Amino acid sequence: MLRRVAFVLGLAVLAAVAGVAPMTRAQGVDPTVFESSGDPGFDAWRSDFARRVIMAGRSPEVVRSVLSRAAPDPRVVQADQNQPEFVRPVWDYIDRAVTPRRITDGQAKRAENAALFSAIQAKYGVDADIIAGIWAIETNYGAAPLNYDAVNALATLAAEGRRRAQFEGYLVALIQMVERGYAGPTELKSSWAGALGQPQFMPDIYLQDAVDWDGDGKRDIWTNTGDALASIANYLARRGWSPGDPVFDEVRLPTKFDYALADGTMRSIAEWEGFGVTRLDGAPWSPATRALQAQLFLPAGAEGPALVLFQNFRSIRAYNPSDRYALAVSLLARGYAGRGGIVASWPRYQGALQRADMIELQQLLAAKGYDSGGADGMFGSNTRRAVRAYQQAEGLPADGWPTRALLDRIRGAPAPAVVNPIEADRDAAADLRSKASIRELQGHLNRLGFAIGPPNGLVGPKTRAAIAAFERRMGLSPTGRATTFILQRARTAVKAGR
Ligand code: CA
Repeated sequence: MLRRVAFVLGLAVLAAVAGVAPMTRAQGVDPTVFESSGDPGFDAWRSDFARRVIMAGRSPEVVRSVLSRAAPDPRVVQADQNQPEFVRPVWDYIDRAVTPRRITDGQAKRAENAALFSAIQAKYGVDADIIAGIWAIETNYGAAPLNYDAVNALATLAAEGRRRAQFEGYLVALIQMVERGYAGPTELKSSWAGALGQPQFMPDIYLQDAVDWDGDGKRDIWTNTGDALASIANYLARRGWSPGDPVFDEVRLPTKFDYALADGTMRSIAEWEGFGVTRLDGAPWSPATRALQAQLFLPAGAEGPALVLFQNFRSIRAYNPSDRYALAVSLLARGYAGRGGIVASWPRYQGALQRADMIELQQLLAAKGYDSGGADGMFGSNTRRAVRAYQQAEGLPADGWPTRALLDRIRGAPAPAVVNPIEADRDAAADLRSKASIRELQGHLNRLGFAIGPPNGLVGPKTRAAIAAFERRMGLSPTGRATTFILQRARTAVKAGR
């Protein structure tokens, strides 16, 4: 180490004396002088960076082997500047991430690597289906092409300068990966942002958490399935994964529930039961589960599904700090295991608040004294808190969930003529024609507690009254019409047990 510093200091003195003329190979190679990339700004940053990391103790040979091939990648700058303005609603994200095709692909991958998955699950205690779910979303089970060279991607973002310290840090980690022989400099394939291999680890995470499953000395998360999957498992195991515990349960909330309880606070399931929360499928929680801590989560506000999230959900969220990401991974895992997804319907009629709407909402809330910590257009915990405080003051369900209706209300705009898209669907649906389908509807209505007597396949006053009551229960205006829509809803309600 001392010798290396002395060597570099010697070079620095020599460079100061001789100017910056590159030395020839015969004179010994200055590891901080590179063939030009064609971009003078990049070249200047690269030589300076190389000098600094060698001074800090990195191997001059490795620094040179990593950085000599580096060149700015214009696609990276473009991707970095091209952050989406469009905010996808959570149900839209889930629809795209959790497809039947992806579930069957995952089941095939699980079968193909059955011994590997069970060995990894045995060693790390992490549910193999969750590992497969992360693998799916990160790189589509390793099939997604990694079209970027990590050195170029990270060097481009470091040289560009806005987040120089952060990306130089990643490059230092990348150099250490090569120094330790975990990976070769030409194997470092990544996303445009420098996320590596099948698990999409940033280099610092790779150094901490990637593992060499097959014991060949390399942590090959690019082409070795065992290394890739064990690295994902190790990451979760080191972030609080609790073997054998559930990830989430869908729940039913009592009427007149205080939605402000869904504020992220962890409480035992027994405490949640005290608030009237029950499993949606009606099954009781086991004594062991009743002792577990969980938070109540309304991924689309009070009008959408309700979930309790256990510690294992939080471990998944450590992989990518996004609730919808962790939810998609968990739903894929359920899918592989042949378990159903979320039963309650998403409030798709709400639409999505776009970034500009969110900024306006944050500004209007701040003007009314509900500070969301700056109007940045991002929906985070501060905005959730500000929305909740406003809702509480206004006597609204305090779910902390911003909707277009809420924005209109804060704007003080007159309430728009209410067009409930669910009612529009209902009104467009065809009347039930066959006696069999009417009998089926009558059976469902009986099971839902609208006692109309034995199904007779005829729509009489009792059936119409029961349909109207069922419509009111769904929050719809009553029509009493026996339609395909009502039959579908009744089936779903019976399945969900409500
Ligand atoms: Ca290996």
